[in-house]
Amino acid sequence: MVVSCGDWCSCWLSSCSRPAVLIDYTVREPIGVSGQIIPFNYPLQNTARGSAPALAAGCTVVLKPSPEAPLTPLEIGRIALECGLPPGVLNVVPGDGETGAALAGHPGIDQVTFTGSVATGIKVAQAAAANVVPSVVELGGKSPVVVFADADFDLALGAVAASAFGNAGQTCSAGTRLLLQRGAEEFLDKLAAHAASLRVGPGLTDPDVGPLVSARQRDRVLGYLDLAREEGATVSAGGGEPADLTLRRGYYVAPTVLSGLTNQDRVAREEIFGPVVTVVELDDVDEALEIANDSPYGLSSYVWTRDIDKALRMAHGIRAGQVHVNATGVGTGVELPFGGYKHSGWGREKGLEALASYTQVKNVCIGFGNST
Ligand code: NAD
Repeated sequence: MVVSCGDWCSCWLSSCSRPAVLIDYTVREPIGVSGQIIPFNYPLQNTARGSAPALAAGCTVVLKPSPEAPLTPLEIGRIALECGLPPGVLNVVPGDGETGAALAGHPGIDQVTFTGSVATGIKVAQAAAANVVPSVVELGGKSPVVVFADADFDLALGAVAASAFGNAGQTCSAGTRLLLQRGAEEFLDKLAAHAASLRVGPGLTDPDVGPLVSARQRDRVLGYLDLAREEGATVSAGGGEPADLTLRRGYYVAPTVLSGLTNQDRVAREEIFGPVVTVVELDDVDEALEIANDSPYGLSSYVWTRDIDKALRMAHGIRAGQVHVNATGVGTGVELPFGGYKHSGWGREKGLEALASYTQVKNVCIGFGNST
């Protein structure tokens, strides 16, 4: 942009020696070194969705994988070198929480991208803030799935089950909080029967539902199932380890549907991160919106209805980074922005929005000539 100084300059000093013409332009520059910390689930996607936009923006990356799933990121690092990425551009540094804390608080880091639990995300954001560097934090979720009585149950069934039970429920955006309109009880029966029919087993046997990542994660999920019983839940499907005793050597939990809950029950509010759906009943759109938003989380959400008015009221009323209407999983595409409201985090990964996290805006103003 070319401007004449007198057009806009508010300088009041009579002694000011003003240039006759200014050329002004704005550039986006790479932010520098991006420190990235990822969780155990989806190690391929979580490595790619942070490092790809950072590298595309001209940054370098130091990535710390989860100690429970370090091999995929290490392999991506090896392939990157094989593809000709110069050494030092994409660095994969395995380690535990101590290594993550050292990375998040390192003075040589210019930006932090963290994906993981809320508790760790708060620590990482605090460490980044102490160095006055920006952060993207992608945290947990307990995403509502609102099924109205007018929904196409057959269409919804497979999608709701895939979202809740896929990856054994270890998906941040899993639709695990089923909010069912009274009158749609048939959907609950279908979901329970579907869950009970899913084949659980080791990955190499191509099952419907595989194992949890660790004994710790399995025990955490089983602990929530004990809590559900204490809270008076009806176990409509599953409810513990699979009946097949040969699976007891692994970390398996049967796909579970817990009904008869209120939105104040802990199992209906807290992220379980296992193949567990909780069911709360409601009357109408107003109540659906109220309960969907009565959550500390706001990552994803799902609405099933044939009524476009209801669909749009829900889509614009839900406080979450993503709303799916009569669909699931579409929003996980790399071309679409992804991220959370509320305790599910801030900043966006994927889509063009991701590039903003890895660039700084610089304005350059050059004066030519002298007007005095
Ligand atoms: P976690 O918070 O336990 O660990 C995540 C990462 O942080 C690991 O690499 C871990 O070693 C590291 N870490 C631990 N303590 C640290 C510290 N003090 N400072 C820095 N790093 C530290 O999470 P997890 O159990 O591996 O993953 C499950 C969680 O991740 C769930 O809550 C899930 O919802 C969330 N998640 C969110 C998204 C999203 O996009 N929003 C995607 C996947 C997973």
